[in-house]
Amino acid sequence: MKLCALSVDLDEIPCYHAIHGLPMPTDGSAHAVYARAVPRYLDVLRELGVPCTFFVIGRDMAHGVARDGARALFEAGHELANHTQNHRYEFSRLDRDAIRAEVQGGIEAVTAVQGFAPTGFRAPGYTVNDRVFDALSELGVFYDSSVFPCPLYWSAKATKIGLISLAGRRSHSIVDAPTVLAAPADPYIAGRPYWREAAHDGGMIELPIGVTRIARLPYIGTTVMAAGPSRVGLLTAQIAGRPLVNLELHGIDLLDADDGLDALRPHQLDVRVPVAQKLDTLRAVVGDLKARGYEFVTMHEAAQAFARERRG
Ligand SMILES: [Zn+2]
Repeated sequence: MKLCALSVDLDEIPCYHAIHGLPMPTDGSAHAVYARAVPRYLDVLRELGVPCTFFVIGRDMAHGVARDGARALFEAGHELANHTQNHRYEFSRLDRDAIRAEVQGGIEAVTAVQGFAPTGFRAPGYTVNDRVFDALSELGVFYDSSVFPCPLYWSAKATKIGLISLAGRRSHSIVDAPTVLAAPADPYIAGRPYWREAAHDGGMIELPIGVTRIARLPYIGTTVMAAGPSRVGLLTAQIAGRPLVNLELHGIDLLDADDGLDALRPHQLDVRVPVAQKLDTLRAVVGDLKARGYEFVTMHEAAQAFARERRG
């Protein structure tokens, strides 16, 4: 298996205001991800000739601009998947019924757009546990892609939440037990606990978020975009060799301060990088991985390929 799956979490701008403990945006920037980033993704993915999986937050589908954007992605041949109904940062700490309702709401919202249920799921903030995995199984989810076995990410996230509270604001983001760091970094069948590979073939397929082979550095939109088009190859060389390169981006990765994100500018370094440069970074990544013999597939196709290989 030598596959690359690009995915984009369509977290709308109010999600970032929540992370940083800022007041909610009242202007047009509240829908900048669907209004501005989605058309850019459509264009660049068409240019590159690669498919992508978009994780949709159910509640956003109540807005016309978001619903139209999701439908355009589906009609262009991309995969729509489930990023919960409300993107609650405390999702994994909810009780069983509330977790089920968040997953089910996301399934219904995507079903209303494309006419059939999504097969994939990603939790807000990468936080999952066995209660979440039970709910996913019960609701017929085929694959999950929430496990992020990256030590650097977990320590940085804990530090950031601490800094935000020192500044007198309250982040809505949470950090879970670092046991997830023991999870496999390549696709696996989730056992119990979910971060252990199952001894049998019956569990949920997990497609972990990308980390480099050595030191497990994060290979995600934030680090890729920070590296930029001229240096990203160094990072890509460190993940190449994995059977699946699972590159998780966000809608905001194709936005910049000119998209009305001034309120985020002091808190998110990435909004200071111009969109044109971010597009060049994405082109460089795709070109590099293609040159290394990687085939680009949706997350669903990656999960199917893994299941075939594993289950025969
Ligand atoms: Zn998210």
